[in-house]
Amino acid sequence: MAKLRKIRLGDLLVQEGKLSEAQLQNALKEQKKSGGKLGKVLIQMGFIQEDDLLQLLSKQLEIPFIDLRSYRYDPEVVRQLSETHARRFRAILLNKNKDGALVGMADPTDLFAVDQLGKILQATVNPAVVREADLLHTIDTVYRKTQEIHHIATELGQEMGDEDEVVLENMLAEAGPEDAPVARLLQSMFEDSVQIGASDIHVEPDESGLHIRQRVDGVLQEQTIKERQVARALVSRLKLMCGLNISERRLPQDGRFNMRVKNRSIDVRLSTMPTQYGESVVMRLLDQSQGLLSLDHIGMSERTLARFRVSIHQPQGLVLVTGPTGSGKTTTLYGALSELNTPAVKVISVEDPVEYRLPRINQVQVNSRIGLSFASVLRSALRQDPDILMVGEMRDEETAEIGLRAAMTGHMVLSTLHTNDAVSTALRLLDMGAAGYMVASSLRAVLSQRLVRRICSMCVEDDPLDVFKRNWLRAMMGQEAEKTTFKRGGGCAHCNNTGYRGRIGVFELLEIDDTLADALRRGVSADFATAAKNRRGFRSLTANALDYAQEGLTSLEEVIRISGEVEQPLDTPEQTPTETEAADIEVEPDGEKIETEAKEGEPEPKEHEPEAKEENESASAEPLSEKPSPEARYLEE
Ligand SMILES: [Zn+2]
Repeated sequence: MAKLRKIRLGDLLVQEGKLSEAQLQNALKEQKKSGGKLGKVLIQMGFIQEDDLLQLLSKQLEIPFIDLRSYRYDPEVVRQLSETHARRFRAILLNKNKDGALVGMADPTDLFAVDQLGKILQATVNPAVVREADLLHTIDTVYRKTQEIHHIATELGQEMGDEDEVVLENMLAEAGPEDAPVARLLQSMFEDSVQIGASDIHVEPDESGLHIRQRVDGVLQEQTIKERQVARALVSRLKLMCGLNISERRLPQDGRFNMRVKNRSIDVRLSTMPTQYGESVVMRLLDQSQGLLSLDHIGMSERTLARFRVSIHQPQGLVLVTGPTGSGKTTTLYGALSELNTPAVKVISVEDPVEYRLPRINQVQVNSRIGLSFASVLRSALRQDPDILMVGEMRDEETAEIGLRAAMTGHMVLSTLHTNDAVSTALRLLDMGAAGYMVASSLRAVLSQRLVRRICSMCVEDDPLDVFKRNWLRAMMGQEAEKTTFKRGGGCAHCNNTGYRGRIGVFELLEIDDTLADALRRGVSADFATAAKNRRGFRSLTANALDYAQEGLTSLEEVIRISGEVEQPLDTPEQTPTETEAADIEVEPDGEKIETEAKEGEPEPKEHEPEAKEENESASAEPLSEKPSPEARYLEE
């Protein structure tokens, strides 16, 4: 049994040689000023590492140190201690048998908490020390609101009986905002979504009941509620919250509202759609308090990031970010914008919708109902003396043309296109009717991107690779395929049995050099595509994703999923062109005429050249030097 007694942490650390007397005095002074526990102050001041402190506590108190990141706990057991108690005492019940209750605690020296937990659990408490951040995260994961949602829905279903609009609307009108079961149901639904990091909530009635699905890491997770009549109450309540017409159920509507959930300010964009079994509602949750990701944290390799930075920091030109919906384009654009956003430059952004409010940037929301289109806003924006323009999406020819003109006349223009890869993006601009010379002289770079799911670190295991995966690999990598190994997630409580947690961005950057610009100017798609694929240092999305998979960050399954959208063979570094091949491409029959045109249209044609050479040298040697940051989160577009 553990010897629990008050210990003087500071003295102990000095005794063990982990801390000097001077540091201790310093920390004690700081503690007096700021309050809080000494241990925390010491960690904040950088005098000790949290793990050192915990190991010491574990040794001194003769209690185990448990790493929650690898400990396999049973959520059912954990939930025997209520969420309120778990949070109040910063404790997690890990095991309970006749010998007592094993409780992970952030501060096992808190004797009062140990005492209270013993009473609540009616058992002898055997404390273990755990990292505080892991504890809080585990609590968030385990105490989901799933059961609460079901419980309230059942209650509500019984109260309402059969579908009866009149009664329902009376009920909504009479009920106070907080006490109505519908409001409680919504509250639980939002809290649950924030807790699991959902980006969207779908409320869909069908024949069998009501489906509530939450999108987490790009994939929907479903909860079904049998009481279908609850759907209408939920939808009406939501429509009231954003001031929509609740009696209009035959036409789609959209609106927005803001709410506070777990002390966070959540912006909710809502849209309704009439379906056969009632209105379905989709809500996009935008967490304003999460803060923007800087470009350093979206998962770009050091090299790609450095090259991307060169492109966006040019005084003028067009930089495009492309990929399908949900590929993290918006996050990248916002990251770029916040880097360019200084008091010295004027930035105007035209967006649909404005997903995130940025200080000092003039953000304009497109509104097609009153004729405020991308093109019209962009035209007005140009009269506002901007240095940098962000165009949410180049949807049509007119927008593309104004954007290109702006990029040729002293503005840096950032935008997105819905294309699959970097190569097809430039060609899409031509297809949209943009003149070749305009694209050639303004387009600086195209960044194509995808998000792949990150393997859950708690249940990562070797992937034995089935026949399908093996064949895919052989087709992609040839001989190399036999030598490579991959990981996958087995599924656990931490990742809701999906095997994945969080996502990483995968990127493909195509910089437009002279050869590529020439091909664009002539409007010859085939030449452009060939030159792009042979571009030095160019590495495709699939190749980059495969690097992540070989590093064990993502699974081969994810790589195959994203490669399905890109129709290009894997260009391994060995396939980069030899000097002669590259030279062949540059010799074009009408090359001379084009050269002259290039001089006037393109301000700094030499900018990219020296850099491209450097890349090539190291590109084949080391595919990716830097791992993406673990904290990468993504807005969805
Ligand atoms: Zn897992």
